[in-house]
Amino acid sequence: MSARVLVVDDQEPNVRLLEAKLKAEYFEVVTAFNGLDAISKTNDHQPDVILLDIMMPGMDGFEVCRKLKADRRTRHIPIVMVTALDQPEDRVRGLEAGADDFLTKPVDNLPLFARIRSLLRLKVLLDELRVREDKVEARGLSPVEANETDISGSRQLIITGEERIAEHLAERLPDEAVAEKEIDPAKAVSRAADGFDLIIVDLTTKVFDALRVCARIRSNSETRHVPILAIVDPDEMARSVRALDLGVNDIVNRPVDRGELNARIRTQLRRKRYADMLRERLDDSLEMAVTDPLTGLSNRRYLSSRLEQAVQRVAHGEETACVMIADLDYFKRVNDSYGHDAGDAVLQQFAECLRHRARAVDLVARFGGEEFVVLMPSVTLNEAAIGAERLRATVNKLSFRLPGTDSVLAVTVSIGLAEIHAGDTVDSALRRADEALYRAKAAGRNCVKLEKVQTKAA
Ligand code: GH3
Ligand code: MG
Ligand code: MG
Repeated sequence: MSARVLVVDDQEPNVRLLEAKLKAEYFEVVTAFNGLDAISKTNDHQPDVILLDIMMPGMDGFEVCRKLKADRRTRHIPIVMVTALDQPEDRVRGLEAGADDFLTKPVDNLPLFARIRSLLRLKVLLDELRVREDKVEARGLSPVEANETDISGSRQLIITGEERIAEHLAERLPDEAVAEKEIDPAKAVSRAADGFDLIIVDLTTKVFDALRVCARIRSNSETRHVPILAIVDPDEMARSVRALDLGVNDIVNRPVDRGELNARIRTQLRRKRYADMLRERLDDSLEMAVTDPLTGLSNRRYLSSRLEQAVQRVAHGEETACVMIADLDYFKRVNDSYGHDAGDAVLQQFAECLRHRARAVDLVARFGGEEFVVLMPSVTLNEAAIGAERLRATVNKLSFRLPGTDSVLAVTVSIGLAEIHAGDTVDSALRRADEALYRAKAAGRNCVKLEKVQTKAA
């Protein structure tokens, strides 16, 4: 995976050194030598990762980080602070400024590339979600914000080999978080799927192979998106690198500094909330794209795609199917006499009735206005006619409630039915059902008509 990396440092030799290392691994490198330059290069080049020096004259790394993380256009870009300082307080300050990670100078290649790979994976995921989010925004919904740092009530699972160590780690978690512990590796993997916001795995335990536990949590579809924070031994660099490559999101060295652990936990939880919100919105927007907002039934667009599939399956002899068009009778009068809201309420109650009568395999859609279509797989025309007649009779007996009053209203429906034949297109099948509907209207309404039996041309 190639990517663009912005390297920021006021010392030219440091920049050149990192640049050389990154280019050797085929990364594209952009450089900046001070804070202001870093911000304008970020805007111009939209890097995938930023390696940011802390101590720079003028605007220091903390401030650059805060500025980039405060801007909606750049906040999603992962920032790794590169520092000569190796004091937990600086790490905490950096994480609080919004940094995603830390590396200590001189920078070792292995952790450098492992960190970058791990952050790039995260960014690819977020970018994908953000592209979709932009489309949602274009429809006038407000953008997702993720400045949330309130982590009270968030649930964290600690996985380690011994009760005593689990206890010790739990004491170092943020006070407002809820911590649960698991020392059995088999149970740990299944418990991880129990709605936790963060999983903390102690990779230093000798009791079982904790890397394997991480790998299993990552590969399970239910826990794929739950952040994992690993506790490692600073001497075991190769293990940290493997953990990051397996999909562990962040690592904390032993002995665990409470301030740093808490700052890293906050970063993970903030990211997770952001990604969850984007994902939720994506589900909503997919839902919106296929649903009729008034009735909650499928919309015409979704119906078309399902009809197209049905036509194909019938053509291949894999299925039989019928289409029904139901149109409310004299519906215009409902609007004219009782108002548009009353009309809407009638449409909703009719939709409810349709949904209630339909089989699970049927697709019920609002075709437009007061016209509804049901696609019924695996039925003959005569079977469909029996169902349609029952629907008509039910509607005929139904009292439609008018909103804001105690009055009820009688409404009737006319129905046309056609079977999809091999050689049909979506349009030709709908046209025959519509023609049957027209005959039902002509016959006085409140009745069901079937398509005319086809006389095969020689
Ligand atoms: P017919 O028995 O021949 O079907 O007569 P009709 O009055 O039902 O048919 P027509 O097509 O003349 O009128 C349909 C009416 O449905 C006109 C339109 O204002 C109304 N309508 C369409 N969509 C909506 C809607 O979403 N809400 C409401 N309240 N009315 C709608
Ligand atoms: Mg009508
Ligand atoms: Mg109509």
